Amino acid sequence: MPSYEPVIGLEVHAEMLTQSKMFCGCAVVDSTSAAPNTVVCEVCAGMPGTLPVINERAVEFGLRVALALNCEVPGVNVFARKNYFYPDLPKGYQISQYELPLAVNGWLDIETTAGLKRIRVRRVHLEEDTGKLNHQEEGGGKSEEGSAPSSLLPPPSSLVDLNRAGVPLLEIVTEPDLCSVEEVRAYATALRSLLRYLGVNNGDMEKGVIRFEANISVRPVGSDELRSRTEVKNLNSFKAMERATVYEIERQSAVWESGGRVAQETMGWNDAEGVTVSQRGKEHAHDYRYFPEPDLPPLELDRAWIERIRAELPELPAARRDRFVQALGLTRYDADLLVVERAVAEYFEAACAVSDAGAAPKTVPPKAVANWITGELFRLMNAGGLTIDQVKVTPRALAGLISLISVGTINSNTAKIVFEEMFATGQDAGAIVAARGLAQVSDTAEIEALIDRVLSANPEQVKTFLGGKATVEQWFFGQVMKASQGRGNPQVIRGLLAEKLKALGG
Ligand code: ADP
Ligand code: MG
Ligand code: ZN
Repeated sequence: MPSYEPVIGLEVHAEMLTQSKMFCGCAVVDSTSAAPNTVVCEVCAGMPGTLPVINERAVEFGLRVALALNCEVPGVNVFARKNYFYPDLPKGYQISQYELPLAVNGWLDIETTAGLKRIRVRRVHLEEDTGKLNHQEEGGGKSEEGSAPSSLLPPPSSLVDLNRAGVPLLEIVTEPDLCSVEEVRAYATALRSLLRYLGVNNGDMEKGVIRFEANISVRPVGSDELRSRTEVKNLNSFKAMERATVYEIERQSAVWESGGRVAQETMGWNDAEGVTVSQRGKEHAHDYRYFPEPDLPPLELDRAWIERIRAELPELPAARRDRFVQALGLTRYDADLLVVERAVAEYFEAACAVSDAGAAPKTVPPKAVANWITGELFRLMNAGGLTIDQVKVTPRALAGLISLISVGTINSNTAKIVFEEMFATGQDAGAIVAARGLAQVSDTAEIEALIDRVLSANPEQVKTFLGGKATVEQWFFGQVMKASQGRGNPQVIRGLLAEKLKALGG
């Protein structure tokens, strides 16, 4: 048993997919591909004397998230100036929220090996994103996230891109309720999925539109103290987040173990070397000299508007999963896999709803649809690096394939071959089966002939079987299936094989 256990809180920054920025009319664009500094105005460039105006849509998107996270939404929230210097922050301050955030005291349930666990959400607030620095190195630029690592010397030269400056950013902060790397992953996955369901963020970590920071400490197992923590930034994939968390837990445990003290500091993750790197001592709220933003009035929210947003929330992943379990009889495990992405869940439901799929004029069993999606479809999608919208097999075509199995036209092994071809070409199952002569052989005379051939070709095995080794029957089954080139109807083979062996005296 380890003598130290982790205590982790996550801070998540999610860009809101609004059309325009948080406080001006500039468009929100993909800041990894747009030409630098093409969507910038006086306001987001921080010119003196300009005035911000709150983007109502960004507030609405923030409220969607806050309500989906079961938060309390106070009637009034206040924007505040967070003062610090960095070249990607032209105003010298960031408009954020501090004392009165958009929402507080929510929660998100996550799946753990020990069942559901409720992770408390401390606060949800709106702010504006910063610009980006592109550090110039030989042979091209390299972009760096966030604020200044003051302990590092500046690189030779850097270019500032303000396209991202002023993009609406929602910060979601948990209580230190996460106790393992698995829980960190489960929370991050569930939150990302939720944001995508709500249509407020596309979840693309590599492009930095959603950014996780892990606050990590360790304490003696069983104690309830909170020890000094480090805050790890630059986590631009789930993998990086997990590796950094494992690394910090081990590093901090070793420090305490050896009688040292863990310093409260801000760290970066060096993915290439697999280590966390100290960037600076942990900043405190007073370092930022927060004060209410004088250019914006307190934001009073209309209760009726909040309730309208609540009423218009889509069915969320957890509710959808429960419905798949209760109404469609899926296992919790399968249902979880299917609901993570809204488009996958919709694909699944569309396939289940097909009522005249191919030969059988009835719907296909949801369980079978779930198996095909979480098994073969996900496997081929992963192998090809495809998302569900890029898949050529329509839900109707998948239902058609499943019907061909259930009416016995093909067996499930052949179905996998057919499915691969459907995936590659987008053709229907029926057409592939016909063109390649893959229909299942159920004809008893034909199968009997195959069994006879196998038995007479293997007298030794027959002897072993008759000598009492029953498992040889399964081997014979395999041989007959092989002789049928995988097209034999398994039930028919099994039935006839048992009869033949019995007749031989087995
Ligand atoms: P700050 O605003 O300085 O980053 P907060 O107190 O708001 O600090 O906490 C930020 C995050 O750190 C929260 O997610 C919180 O749950 C987490 N946290 C606070 N104390 C600890 C601790 N001792 N160990 C791990 N995480 C912690
Ligand atoms: Mg912080
Ligand atoms: Zn602007």
